[in-house]
Amino acid sequence: MSRPLIEVDPTRSVEEQREVLMNRWHPDIPAVVSVKPGDTFVVECLDWTGGQVRNDDSATDIRDIDLTPNHVLTGPIHIDGAQPGDLLIVDILDVGPHPKQNWGYTGIFAKQNGGGFLTDHFPEAHKAIWDFHGVYATSRHVPGVRIPAIPHPGIIGTAPSAALLNKWNARERKLISQDPNRVPPLALPPEPRNAIFGKLLPGTPEYERIAREGARTIPPRENGGNRDIKNLTRGARAFLPVHVPGAKLTVGDLHYTQGDGEITFCGAVEMAGWIELHVDIIKDGMNKHNIQHAMFIPSPIEPRFARYLVFEGYSVDEAGEQYYLDAHVAYRRACLEAVHYLMQFGYTGEEAYTILGAAPVEGHISAIVDIPNACCTLWVPTEIFEFDILPKKDGPHPMVQGGKIAHA
Ligand code: ZN
Repeated sequence: MSRPLIEVDPTRSVEEQREVLMNRWHPDIPAVVSVKPGDTFVVECLDWTGGQVRNDDSATDIRDIDLTPNHVLTGPIHIDGAQPGDLLIVDILDVGPHPKQNWGYTGIFAKQNGGGFLTDHFPEAHKAIWDFHGVYATSRHVPGVRIPAIPHPGIIGTAPSAALLNKWNARERKLISQDPNRVPPLALPPEPRNAIFGKLLPGTPEYERIAREGARTIPPRENGGNRDIKNLTRGARAFLPVHVPGAKLTVGDLHYTQGDGEITFCGAVEMAGWIELHVDIIKDGMNKHNIQHAMFIPSPIEPRFARYLVFEGYSVDEAGEQYYLDAHVAYRRACLEAVHYLMQFGYTGEEAYTILGAAPVEGHISAIVDIPNACCTLWVPTEIFEFDILPKKDGPHPMVQGGKIAHA
C-alpha cells in the first residue's frame, strides 16, 4: 500500500494534528490536499471522538464524552475539476484498523448525553471493547460472539454550498423550536465550541464565522455525510452530489463492523483506521440522473450468512399505544424483542443491545402499507454466536453467566 496522502496518529492529541482534521460542514473550510479524477490514495482517520475512549473496563469515558468536537474527520480533499451539479464517484477500495490501534469499541450513550435508539430502556452509559483478529472481532465485554468485519466509513461526504447550508440550518432550527429543551435534543444547531477547520485557527474572523455557521456532522443530508450504512464497505462505489467547486470530500468515523440502524448510537465497532479511495467525476451527473441524494453500489465482498433468526415489530408502542405506519416504533419493537430473547440465554440487556448495534444484523422495512401497522424486521445472523440460539421445545439454556460463557 502506498504511503497515506493524509496521515494521523491515534496516540497523539487532536490538537497536535488539527491541520488535517475538520468537524463541521461548511463550504469555506480550506482543503487539506488536492487529487485528480482517476487518482487512488489512502487517508488515515482518527476514531470519531478523536481518542476520547480508552481501552479499559469502565464506561465513564462514554458517559462523559464531550460531543462538541464530534465527529473528528479527515479532510477536506479537493478534487480537481469537480463542479456543482457533478456526481463524484468514490470507490472504497479498502478499509482497515490503524496500524497503531488494533481494537475498537461500542458505546451505549447515556440518555443525558445523546442517548440511543432504545434510550428509554437503557438510559445509562455502557462500553464494550473489541479486539481485532484479522476479519473477526471478539470482546471481553460481550461473551459468546465473534463478529466478522464489514469495515466502512460511517461518514463520507462533500461540502454543502452556502445556500444548502442555510437551508439545513433553517429546517433544523425549526424542528428544534418544537421542543427546545428536550433530552436528548431533537437536533443540534451549529456549535462554535471545539470546532476544527484544519489550518484555520480560532481567533481569526474566518474561523469564527465558519464556527457560527457550520452544520454539525451528526445527521446525513444532501451531501451524504453520516449515513452509517454498513454496506459502504470495501468494494462499494459511492456517488456523492457535488455542491462546491472541488467537491471538498471528507471522510471519517470508520467502523470495523456495524448492524443496520447502528442502534446504540455509538453502536458500530468504532475504530481509528485508514481508507483507500479512488475518485472520478460524472460531469453534470446530478442533472443527468435527476438525483439529489447520495447513492451507492454495494460491494461484492461482504460477510455471508446462511441462517438468520428474524424478529418482527409493528407500530404499537411498549404501552400498547397504536401508531400509524410508524417504522421507527416498529423497528424499536423488533429490536426490543431481540434483546429480550437474547437475555434468556443469560446476556444482560446491555450485552444484547450491544450485539445488535455492533454485529452486522439486517434491518428491513418489510411492509409499510398495511394500515395501521408498519412491519419492521431485524435479521440476526445465528452464526455469530458460539452456541445455538434457535427456539427449542425445552426452551433456552442459559449459556452466559457473569460475563462468561458457561461451558457444559
Ligand atoms: Zn461511528
